[in-house]
Amino acid sequence: MEVKILERNDREIKFLVSGVKSSFAGALRRVMISEVPTMAIEWVEYNTNTSAMPDEVLANRLGQVPLTYDPKAYNLKKDCKCDNKGCSRCEVKLVLKKKGPAMVYSDDLKTTDKSVVPFIEKIPLVELFADQELEFVATAQLGMGREHSKWQGAVVGYKNLPSIKIGDIAKEDLDKFVKVCPRDVFKTKDGKLIVTDPVKCILCMNCVEASRKGEVEVTPVEDAFVFTVETASGIRAEDVVQMATEVLGEKMKEFQKELKKLK
Ligand SMILES: [Zn+2]
Repeated sequence: MEVKILERNDREIKFLVSGVKSSFAGALRRVMISEVPTMAIEWVEYNTNTSAMPDEVLANRLGQVPLTYDPKAYNLKKDCKCDNKGCSRCEVKLVLKKKGPAMVYSDDLKTTDKSVVPFIEKIPLVELFADQELEFVATAQLGMGREHSKWQGAVVGYKNLPSIKIGDIAKEDLDKFVKVCPRDVFKTKDGKLIVTDPVKCILCMNCVEASRKGEVEVTPVEDAFVFTVETASGIRAEDVVQMATEVLGEKMKEFQKELKKLK
């Protein structure tokens, strides 16, 4: 197996995995989406809400605010020693108090733990007009995408790595191939057609259709996958990948343990 990072920033990572089966790629994707624990607001207790937005609609919006957290400090509530009652190891309070006229943004949420803050500072939540007031205490907890989309770790897509073979091409046809590709995969150099970057290919097959004599062949590489992971939570994209591999590892360990019991 080989992994190559193609692009990365906090929000998105693109990488190539070679030497794996499609079932592995599918499992990795599913875990990233639905089984990486992330932090989100689950409960809101209002003291005042005279904004135009009803309590439950605002609570729903608050649930969608991605929150950062320290994975070493928090447990899923169901696995916590407090027995699902809620404690400082499985819950965190965020308070907000604001008077209109003003826009309420995600970073107006004041946290009781500095590791838990909105991943994006200026998400507009609700607009308060003159004489309108908002005051509440929200409780955030860990959850997983399979329970509710607000806990979804990331948006993940993958495709097979394309393999592009170029045969003999008549000089007058070179530009045709360059133009037909919507992703600028081809360019000409020294009177020849060359591939700039096969990863950019989206397998649209425009170039193959433009080949009258099979000059260009595009085939998916069966055991190589290009992943694009965009975080949908308060966890950096590359950490979502890392955490997903840990979840997969834990599953295998559990499986092994159960197998041993059968002996
Ligand atoms: Zn607890």
